[in-house]
Amino acid sequence: TQAHLDAIDGAAALNAYLLATPDRALAQADAADQRLADGTATAMTGIPLAIKDLFCTQGVATTAASHMLEGFVPPYESTVTANLWADGAVMLGKTNLDEFAMGSSNEHSYFGPVKNPWRARGDNTDRVAGGSSGGSAAAVAARLALGSTGTDTGGSIRQPASLTGIVGMKPTYGRCSRWGVVAFASSLDHPGPFSRTVRDNAILLASMAGYDAKDSTSVDRPVPAYESALTGDIKGFRIGVPKEYVVDAMPEEISALWRRGMDWLRDAGAEVVEVSLPHTQYALPAYYIIAPAEASSNLARYDGVRYGLRETVEGGGLADMYEATRGAGFGPEVQRRIMIGTYVLSAGYYDAYYLKAQKVRTLIKRDFDAAFGHVDALLTPTAPNAAFPLGAKLDDPLAMYLNDVFTVTANLAGVPALSLPAGLSSEGLPLGLQVIGKAFDEETVYKVGHVLE
Ligand code: GLN
Repeated sequence: TQAHLDAIDGAAALNAYLLATPDRALAQADAADQRLADGTATAMTGIPLAIKDLFCTQGVATTAASHMLEGFVPPYESTVTANLWADGAVMLGKTNLDEFAMGSSNEHSYFGPVKNPWRARGDNTDRVAGGSSGGSAAAVAARLALGSTGTDTGGSIRQPASLTGIVGMKPTYGRCSRWGVVAFASSLDHPGPFSRTVRDNAILLASMAGYDAKDSTSVDRPVPAYESALTGDIKGFRIGVPKEYVVDAMPEEISALWRRGMDWLRDAGAEVVEVSLPHTQYALPAYYIIAPAEASSNLARYDGVRYGLRETVEGGGLADMYEATRGAGFGPEVQRRIMIGTYVLSAGYYDAYYLKAQKVRTLIKRDFDAAFGHVDALLTPTAPNAAFPLGAKLDDPLAMYLNDVFTVTANLAGVPALSLPAGLSSEGLPLGLQVIGKAFDEETVYKVGHVLE
């Protein structure tokens, strides 16, 4: 723990952490030593972790990287982090993210962007760490934590894992409780772990997951010992390769990475077959209607009365206070999402946009159900590109949204999906492969991922 705290101090330039909590970390580490002595330790006891600053941590400021929540200190602990502390894990601090988890580059943080610890060969420009969980990914990649927590609404665990060369898992919807996690789009938000290996990831998820009566969408199913799935044996497995994921603008090095992944699986005795997910092309447009719609509703609670920031207007009334607070508290990307969401939910447009997007979502879910009728898991690239330079896509929201083309489908369908490092780009930057599984079959996802790593 002390070594990690020192490393965090030395790597402030990455901006991965918003807050280090050394006193709390050292107290938890002492308690972990005691558990080791008592014989009550678990695999997580004493493991120093970074926590995305979207998870409420009791008595420790939680900002969602927004000006809106400045000064907010939660009086309660999220279920996922409480599960980790119950197993004896140690919190090193809270990590940077895109404001309210909206973004794919961690440049939409009120506290400035995260820098990717990786640089391209012969090029000193700073690269994005991916988003929205860029701080949690950079912390693990730069050895500033052994593991970390993230949330994935449209790719925010898997895409930053891919861009920083680490392992990130979005489990099945309902596996990890959302209670105490600042809400972005409730039907799409999935807490999950980052780590440097698939085995560490399996151990972390087993600690984070589990039924929680405080989250009405939490699922009451036993949590398997994921680690025991890592047998290395995938002989006879059928792995699907969705033909619709061959997108027009896909760089050759991403296609090559994908083919290499297929070869590795064949070498391990699996059969690789082409499958069709026919509604894939509608996933991104449906996502960018449903996610902002839910966000506009969730973010209505920031009214200047209950949490964080309050801006008042001299001589003004309640509505002026709302307007001034929300105008000053939310950054440009969050305001854009609220406007899109409010528009697609408005009386005249609800049927044309929101309802249509929900129908598309059902079709996408059915595509996955049909594919999983004859394959055990799917293999795809995680992202259409490696880490891009800071600022490269900041002025073009559509280019930024296109980063999520391979990841949003698993959120819409609620199925588990893992990203693992699988090679380097021509510039020497990490690239990830994605393994997608059936609902509640994280074990197969880990088993296949373990063979690929
Ligand atoms: N990049 C996507 C978005 O901006 C996904 C973000 C996320 O998964 N939190 O909405």
